[in-house]
Amino acid sequence: MIRAASAAIRRRLRQGRESPFHRLASRARCYHLRRVSGSNLYASLSSLLAAAVAAAIGISVYLRDRSRLQFSRFFAFCLSLCLFHLARFFAGLPSLPRSQWVADTLSLLLPLMADRFLSGFFPAAGPAPGRNPLQGPLLGVLLVLQVIALVFPQLADEPWWVVVDISIMTYVVGGLFFAVMRMWRAARAAEGTAAGPRLRYLFYAALIALALGQPGIPVIGPIATAVYLYFMAQTLTRERLLDLPEILARIASMTLLVITVTAVYAALVLWVPWTFAGEPMLLVFNTLLASFAVLVLIDPLRTELDRRLESWLFHDRTILRALLDRLRRRLVNLIDPDEMVRVVMNTLRGSERVTRASLFLLDRQGSALRLRGHTGAPTPPSSLDLATRRPLLERMRQSGPLLRDVLERQRERANNELKAELDECLDTFAEVGASLALPIRGLAGEQLEGGPPRLHLLGVLFVDDERLLEPFSREEVELFEGVVAQAAVMIENSTVYEQRKERDRLAALGEMAAGLAHEIRNPLGAIKGAVQVVEPGLQNADPTTREFLGVIVEEVERLNRVVTQFLTYSRPFTGQMGPVVLGEVVVTTLRLLDEDARGRVTVTQAANLPPVRGDAEALRQVLLNLLRNAFDALAGQSPPGRVFVSLGLRRHGLGSGDAVTLTVRDNGPGFAPGALANLFVPFHTTKAAGTGLGLPISQRIVENHRGLIEVSAPEGGGAQFTIVLPVYAQPRAEAPT
Ligand code: ADP
Repeated sequence: MIRAASAAIRRRLRQGRESPFHRLASRARCYHLRRVSGSNLYASLSSLLAAAVAAAIGISVYLRDRSRLQFSRFFAFCLSLCLFHLARFFAGLPSLPRSQWVADTLSLLLPLMADRFLSGFFPAAGPAPGRNPLQGPLLGVLLVLQVIALVFPQLADEPWWVVVDISIMTYVVGGLFFAVMRMWRAARAAEGTAAGPRLRYLFYAALIALALGQPGIPVIGPIATAVYLYFMAQTLTRERLLDLPEILARIASMTLLVITVTAVYAALVLWVPWTFAGEPMLLVFNTLLASFAVLVLIDPLRTELDRRLESWLFHDRTILRALLDRLRRRLVNLIDPDEMVRVVMNTLRGSERVTRASLFLLDRQGSALRLRGHTGAPTPPSSLDLATRRPLLERMRQSGPLLRDVLERQRERANNELKAELDECLDTFAEVGASLALPIRGLAGEQLEGGPPRLHLLGVLFVDDERLLEPFSREEVELFEGVVAQAAVMIENSTVYEQRKERDRLAALGEMAAGLAHEIRNPLGAIKGAVQVVEPGLQNADPTTREFLGVIVEEVERLNRVVTQFLTYSRPFTGQMGPVVLGEVVVTTLRLLDEDARGRVTVTQAANLPPVRGDAEALRQVLLNLLRNAFDALAGQSPPGRVFVSLGLRRHGLGSGDAVTLTVRDNGPGFAPGALANLFVPFHTTKAAGTGLGLPISQRIVENHRGLIEVSAPEGGGAQFTIVLPVYAQPRAEAPT
């Protein structure tokens, strides 16, 4: 068909009957034919390359986030480009003449796809998608014509059919140009902002890609298309438009990498077919070797290339890197958060790369971030409440650093709910005066096996450079991230250090107090003894003297009780663990009470309770403490109150293990206001003669039994304490040897 058409045109040309229109048409057709004839192997191969690159880029963007409409549209555009180039590649093979028809038909889809993608890419500028009124009808007509060409190939051989060819070309190029013009409109709309010039670069690059992508330009065209797609993908996935130096650096880095990789393959593979033509395995082997070499080389090479390009193109960044590296190294040696804040602020102040910075750290209560240092005006708020700033802080806790401009762009395409949340985030940015927020995150608790690390917020570093609208590139953000990561390690170390210091201090204090208690107890015995010696001789003394002697004995006894209890509390637990039947503990403890008290205790017990693991003597002491407290609470009540002791079984009461519960409940007046929060705090008492050590001692004993004490105020009044103790587990029998 094509050859026939070419012959017809040539014939007409020879006959010299062509009008200027015919000459133009025939030139277009000849050029069209040249494409199809398969004479240009490189053109065809580069189409294959462009198809592969378009597919790879499209798929990589799509897989990144399938839910994003913009990513899907980009994917659709890449896919149509891929199919179009694939068809062009096949059209280059002489055996597949229909492929050119397929390529032409697919090319009709390109403007539509490009327009859909770009109209969503700049929602603020340009008409809404599908607003180009000519596009739909034109596409319909051209598609019908294509179908006619398929059904009646002889028609397509007619010389006037070239009009259709030209229309298709005009439609495709014009449509693509229309789509690209959206970028120009967006750039005009963004005039005066950081995005303006960057959009213009994208527009120029699109124009160049469009110009070079024309069918007449082999090799370079598909490469230009591939490079352009790569940049659009970068822009999409990074949520930021690239600056010109960044684009240049990326082009340079990619070109150098491609050249190096090609050189490796060329050196190892190309010479094989010439030198060892009959050894196909050698070719495979060398390709394998080359792939291996490339894989080993690629990472260090890229790092080195990026480093060098950075020092040539981004002098500022090199300085910032050196500065922040130094700062990170300094933080390693610090242990005091205040010193850390001072060092960070001084470094940023002197960096000339930051005009405003503020550092917030979590307060002791863990409810707010307090301002610990700042530089630049105006002064940021003195604290950021965790609850009210939740949208921003939670976002940071989960996903790391946030850039103001990225949030602004996300806001443009967000739904109402998300928009409100992003507005709150942006308000905080405005209040603090920042364009970049870097969370200082520490590990929260144990990491679940295989799961992601659980992070919690220790603080936030906000930075800004008011001179620029989008001051920090992704690479610079990464540099700052290194600093905040080190700050997090430092803060966590300092917390551990503080805790250890506090623990050591308390241990020393405890030892001193126990020594002091001993020193007090010894003379107490002597004082009481002395009083008892002189007391009989003072039988006839006046009543006041006798009363004072009574006070001395009473107070000595009280002091002795406090000191003895204190010593019990401060001594390490030395109970002997074994199987204990709690029912027996209850019976033996009740025996220690006087008759009247015993009569006011009701004991209930579930059947077949297993023994618990514990020390009977220590558990008796706990129960006695609880009973004493209950009777203290009931004192003076009329009619006299009662105490209920009950024993029960709780399945999975302590983690996965079963537990026996011992509950002591009284129907007294209940806890004094505010007492509940301090029940287990040593020396907290609401009684005139209390020591405030009964419950702390009980708690320590129960904890040493790996159990727990639960406290509640029952509905009908009174107080209830439940001791939960692990069921005794038979030690596993020794395996016979
Ligand atoms: P103490 O009995 O010497 O005061 P405890 O540590 O045993 O020390 O008790 C601390 C405080 O807990 C008591 O002063 C009392 O206020 C409160 N408390 C304990 N048991 C009861 C109870 N059954 N009813 C009301 N308050 C109680």
